[in-house]
Amino acid sequence: MGIANNLLQIKSTLPEHVTLVAVSKTKPVSDLMEAYEAGQRIFGENKIQEMAEKWEQMPKDIQWHMIGHVQTNKVKFMAPFVSLIHGVDSLKLLQEINKQAQKSSRIIDCLLQIHIAEEETKFGLDEEELASLLSSSEFHKMKNIRIVGLMGMATFTDNKDQIKKEFLHLKTIFDKTKELKTENCQLETISMGMSGDYQLAIECGSTMVRIGSSIFGGRN
Ligand SMILES: *Cc1c(COP(=O)(O)O)cnc(C)c1O
Repeated sequence: MGIANNLLQIKSTLPEHVTLVAVSKTKPVSDLMEAYEAGQRIFGENKIQEMAEKWEQMPKDIQWHMIGHVQTNKVKFMAPFVSLIHGVDSLKLLQEINKQAQKSSRIIDCLLQIHIAEEETKFGLDEEELASLLSSSEFHKMKNIRIVGLMGMATFTDNKDQIKKEFLHLKTIFDKTKELKTENCQLETISMGMSGDYQLAIECGSTMVRIGSSIFGGRN
């Protein structure tokens, strides 16, 4: 029991090539510090304001991942420190990240979010939109971002077959897109899998899992 134990228990089950993002949204800094003291250095948040506040208060060797939907006008608040943005799903957002990264003299790593779920409400690009973004001249001009992988969220369902099908779909798109290597695009990471489905996600090729409630407990 406890955050440190949950964390170590989960870590012991992850293959070496899989990175654990501890999803700490809504949780107090004291909870994050418990995970930090147990060795965790990568934290995922879904609100920029909340992530910036925690970044200010916590040790500076933490890598902060933005896993939520990003509003263009808020990119500037995380550009100085964010280490990976998971949910990029438009050229316009990418352009703003590039601009703010330049202001901070940084190159910001990003994942493109792919729509794999059945639900209409989940954000993300389809395969065609992905291809057109990556082949656009606007994209090739961007020097302060790097696309390092893809991210996806499966449908919220108990149907394992459906979740598996959606994860494998993302893996297929990843394998195809991986061929395409440019200055600002080298795909290495597949971010898929949360508390309820990360083992299945790893079976389907995930290299980065985003786990919240199984580490920190349920959220209100
Ligand atoms: C909240 C969240 C998670 C973690 O969910 P849990 O079920 O608590 O593990 C993972 N990914 C995203 C994008 C999230 O918003």
